[in-house]
Amino acid sequence: PASTTGKHITLLHTNDMHARAVESSPEMGFAKITGIINQYRSQNPDTLLLDAGDAVHGTPFATLVQGESVVKVMNEMGYDAMVPGNHEFNYGWKRLVELSGMMKFPLLSSNVKQADGTNLFKPYLIKEVDGVKIGIMAFSTPETMYKTNPTNVAGLQITDPAVEAKKLVSELRSKVDVIVGIGHLGEDKSSIDTSLKLVKEVPGIDVFIDGHSHTVLENGLAGDNNTLIASAGEYTKYIGVVDVWVDGGKVVKKEAKLVDEKKAANIKPDEKVAALVDSIRKAQEPILKEKLGETPVKLEGSREKARTGETNLGDLLADAMRDVSKSDIAITNGGGIRASIEAGTITKGDIVTVLPFGNQIVQLKVTGADVLAALENGVSDYPQSKGGFSQVSGVSFKIDTSKPKGSRVHSVKVGDKALDPKAIYSLATNDFMAIGGDQYTMFSKYKQAGMYGALDEALITYIQKGGQILAESAGRITEGPMP
Ligand code: ATP
Ligand code: ZN
Repeated sequence: PASTTGKHITLLHTNDMHARAVESSPEMGFAKITGIINQYRSQNPDTLLLDAGDAVHGTPFATLVQGESVVKVMNEMGYDAMVPGNHEFNYGWKRLVELSGMMKFPLLSSNVKQADGTNLFKPYLIKEVDGVKIGIMAFSTPETMYKTNPTNVAGLQITDPAVEAKKLVSELRSKVDVIVGIGHLGEDKSSIDTSLKLVKEVPGIDVFIDGHSHTVLENGLAGDNNTLIASAGEYTKYIGVVDVWVDGGKVVKKEAKLVDEKKAANIKPDEKVAALVDSIRKAQEPILKEKLGETPVKLEGSREKARTGETNLGDLLADAMRDVSKSDIAITNGGGIRASIEAGTITKGDIVTVLPFGNQIVQLKVTGADVLAALENGVSDYPQSKGGFSQVSGVSFKIDTSKPKGSRVHSVKVGDKALDPKAIYSLATNDFMAIGGDQYTMFSKYKQAGMYGALDEALITYIQKGGQILAESAGRITEGPMP
C-alpha cells in the first residue's frame, strides 16, 4: 500500500527448513510459521512469500514420500517462489522436476542447466504487486555438484551464479522497479560462490534473500553495492521479514528483521496447515512405528561422534553392509549417518531418520593399496570432524596422529591378516562414496562389481536377524604410534 515513504511491500522468507514440520521449541514448524505469515498478510496485502532452499528433505516426514509432503504444505502456505538448495536434489533431479510440477508456485533457478546449456527451471519471475514490478531471480549453489550423490545431478551443470546474475540484472533493470535475488549460496567463508561475492560483483540488486549457511541475520547484512542480504537461520526457528518502500520506480528504503518463537508467542498456528501436517503424519505413523528390534544401549550416530571416530552404530551399519554383500571389508561415511538411536525399541522411523539419503550398497573389487588410500582419506582430519570419516567392518587399523595426512594409517588388518597392498579385496560401500563422494576418489575408477539393495534395508534386515549390537565401538579404529 501507499505510505509517506512510497509503496510498501513486504517480502517474507524462509530457508533451510529441512522438513521440520512440527513445532518443537525453538523450531516453530509449518503451522506456526504460517500463522505468522497470516498476520503479515493481514497487515499488508502486498506481501510475497519466498523460500531459499533446503525444504523438502531432512526428516522422515519428507523422506518417506520423497519430498511430496513438504510440497503439499508449501502449496497450502502460499509460497510465491522458491529456489532449490542442494538438498532438493537428494532424490535425484528427475524427482525434483516432478516435485516442481506439483508446486503451485514456480521453482526458480538461473544456473541449474542441462548438458546442452538449457535451463532446468525458469531463471526468474516478474511479479506485479500494487503496480510495483518486482523481478525475482534465483541461484543455486554450485556445491550441489559434490555435496549430493553425483547420480542425483548426472547430466547437469551448475554455473557461476554471479555470471548469471550479471546477465539477469541487465535484462531486468529496464523492466522492473525492484530486483530481488533468492539464493541458496550462503555467507560461509569456506564456500566459493557466496551471496557476499555475488552482490559485490553484481551491482543493482536491491535485496538478496539467502540460505545454505543457516546464518541468522537479525537485521540483514549490508552487502556491497547497497544490497541488503537477508537470511533466516534454519529449521523453522525463524521467518524473515524484509520491508521495502518503492517510490518513482526505485527502492527508497529497506529493512530486514527476523521473527522467532518468542516474538510470535501470541500468534496462533494456522489451522489448515496444522490439519494438513497432522493428516500426513497420521498416515505415516504406522509405517514409522513398525518395530524392528530392540537395542539395550544407545546406538551412537550424532554428528559430533560419527564424524570424528568409530561408533557402535557405525560398526553395526558397516557389519550389515558386509553381511548382505558377503564382502571382505565394508566402509561407510560417518556423515551419511544422520542421527542416534536411543536404547529400547528400534523402529522403521529410527532407521529412516538415521539414513535419509536412500543410499544403495555397492561392492567393488579393490587393491589393498586402494583400501589403504581409502582408510587414509577417512581419517585424514582425525580427530577433527569429517563427513567422510570411515566407519568400517572386516578391517582394523591404527592412526598415528603425529604423522601427516595421507600417511598416518598403519597396522591394517583384514580379518586377522595384515593388509596386502597387491591383493584384491571385495569391499562394500555406499553409492555416494563408490563414485568418489567425500573425497573417496580412489573408488571411482572401479567398475561396480555388484549392487546389494538399499542401505537402510540392509540395516533393517541385519537388526531383524539379530546382528550383534555392541555397547561400545568395537575398537577397529584406534590411535597408536607407528611401529
Ligand atoms: P546443509 O546444506 O544444510 O548445510 P549439508 O548436508 O550439506 O547440510 P553436512 O550436514 O555437513 O552439510 O553434510 C555433508 C555430509 O553429508 C557429506 O560430507 C557426506 O558425509 C554426507 N552426505 C551428503 N550426501 C550424501 C549422500 N547422498 N549419501 C551419503 N552421505 C551423504
Ligand atoms: Zn541446509
